[in-house]
Amino acid sequence: MNLIVKRFENIKSLINNSNVKIIAVSKTFTYGHIKPLVDHGHVHFGENKVQEAQSKWHEIKKINLKINLHMIGKLQSNKVKEAVDLFDYIHSLDSQKLADRLAKYENATNKKLKYFIQVNIGNEKQKSGIGIDLLDDFYYYCTKELSINIIGLMAIPPNDGNESIHFKNLAVLNKSLGLKELSMGMSGDFQEALKYESTFVRLGSSIFGKRV
Ligand SMILES: *Cc1c(COP(=O)(O)O)cnc(C)c1O
Repeated sequence: MNLIVKRFENIKSLINNSNVKIIAVSKTFTYGHIKPLVDHGHVHFGENKVQEAQSKWHEIKKINLKINLHMIGKLQSNKVKEAVDLFDYIHSLDSQKLADRLAKYENATNKKLKYFIQVNIGNEKQKSGIGIDLLDDFYYYCTKELSINIIGLMAIPPNDGNESIHFKNLAVLNKSLGLKELSMGMSGDFQEALKYESTFVRLGSSIFGKRV
């Protein structure tokens, strides 16, 4: 068995929960490196740059309609059209300006993606994401004013040794909004995230190996 497929299957059996979706984060890797996992039948893949994702996945998605592509990186509002055309999920909805542009382009093209609101769960100055105090208003703005399909919250917690507290806080916020999906957990901390009922884990290096 291919090494990547083997690592993926090991993680899947470790998670052992069909409600949890594994997003194989393929950023920086060439399609040749990723292909064994596509051939294996896996359908959820994550990228963090629009242009890189386009060149890697545009043609593949045309022939493999089952692929679900997740935008997990910072989305600039001038890349909205390309992003809506290519991706199925966006995990990094983090500003009103971005939400406005996404809604406008969705309306123009009759396309509906699934969105996670990125929350700045550790209240870090340098990190993107909606502040906890603004989350309710932002959520209602997106859903009621713009009719954006918000399915859950997403966060990248600070690396401060308190990941489990941040995961727990995000899960509580998610529940308070009545949301069903939760995007949290990366290679280093997904098992912790799963204790708080994450439904989408974003795994890169633990599947594809070290990024160079
Ligand atoms: C790169 C990335 C991941 C995957 O990170 P690993 O530690 O390699 O699993 C997950 N989420 C986001 C937002 C990322 O940018």
